[in-house]
Amino acid sequence: MILPGSTLGVLGSGQLGRMFALAARRMGYRVHTLSPDRDSPTGQVGDREFVASYEDLEAIHCFAASVQVVTFEFENVPAATAAAAAEHAPVRPAGSVLHTSQNRLREKNFLAANGFPVAPFAAVRSLAELEAAAKTIGFPAVLKTAGWGYDGKGQAVLRTFEDAPRAWAALASDAPSPEAILEAFVDFACEVSVVAARGLDGSYADWGLFENQHRDHVLDLTLWPARISEDVARRAREIARGVLEALDVVGVLCVEMFVARDGALFVNELAPRPHNSGHLTIEASATSQFEQQVRAVCGLPLGSTELLRPAAMANLLGDLWASGEPRWHRALQDPNVKLHLYGKTDARPGRKMGHLTALGIDPE
Ligand code: AMP
Repeated sequence: MILPGSTLGVLGSGQLGRMFALAARRMGYRVHTLSPDRDSPTGQVGDREFVASYEDLEAIHCFAASVQVVTFEFENVPAATAAAAAEHAPVRPAGSVLHTSQNRLREKNFLAANGFPVAPFAAVRSLAELEAAAKTIGFPAVLKTAGWGYDGKGQAVLRTFEDAPRAWAALASDAPSPEAILEAFVDFACEVSVVAARGLDGSYADWGLFENQHRDHVLDLTLWPARISEDVARRAREIARGVLEALDVVGVLCVEMFVARDGALFVNELAPRPHNSGHLTIEASATSQFEQQVRAVCGLPLGSTELLRPAAMANLLGDLWASGEPRWHRALQDPNVKLHLYGKTDARPGRKMGHLTALGIDPE
């Protein structure tokens, strides 16, 4: 057990690390972070900010030697980084979980091999392979880069055969030898996620289903509880539990899923860390996803995931700053609205700058 007073290390320094650090410091832990950025969202609220690239193994050794456990908020770190950190402190979740979830192809192969439901998919490494895959998968289909993609980046929807050359060229322009996945487009009724935690002793907890609405491939709104049947909720939670167990996760992991119109579930993506859709647990649950991450990676008992009040979360993207600082006092006029800003100074379009959580008698 890693007890309060110890120092926790987080790889990555964005808003997820910031909210993790706030939860950890409240419990009496110290927090070190490492990323290429200075004055980062996590660094601003942590005890020590290491500024180095994730490939700088000397810096990784130094960082990991200064902490009692390493976790992360950014999963796209090289395997060698997780391995170097593991020489000094336990890495939770383990590097193997990162390895599976940072590449869409490995992730989908893992899910399919373990019997979890996924939309039909095929690996694609050339235009010829793309055209062959499109023949079996049909249209519409979604082409996605296998690595380093998030929030809809590196994605294209193919509606006919004629779309294939352009979609492949766009993908290939970003990577010299691209690896991609073509998957069937799911005509979903809604999107849901299950954020779940698993302790060192195998204990498990989740918050039930979050209902997610995306805009331009980026999460826009989350509602909790999700407006979904008990049967779908039960099946989704069984899938999530199965995924955490199959991957032997210690920590927090989010399973994003599509709910088809007939109630069938398809796993879209795994994120081996707290997730944007779980931010509303800070106010709406007895235990936030960030406190749960602290508890799980420290070997402490997991906290209650009870819903205290129905809630909805709205992301605040950089676009909102187009004509100056938003008028926060207007949002806060509703006494049940909570403002979270991540300490980012550069409000670029599409950049996640903060979020609002509203509490009420129902998520609407
Ligand atoms: P992803 O980066 O895979 O999470 O995709 C971002 C968003 O694009 C998802 O949340 C969906 O709204 C949409 N999307 C991705 N893949 C599919 C698919 N196979 N069928 C339908 N919509 C998709």
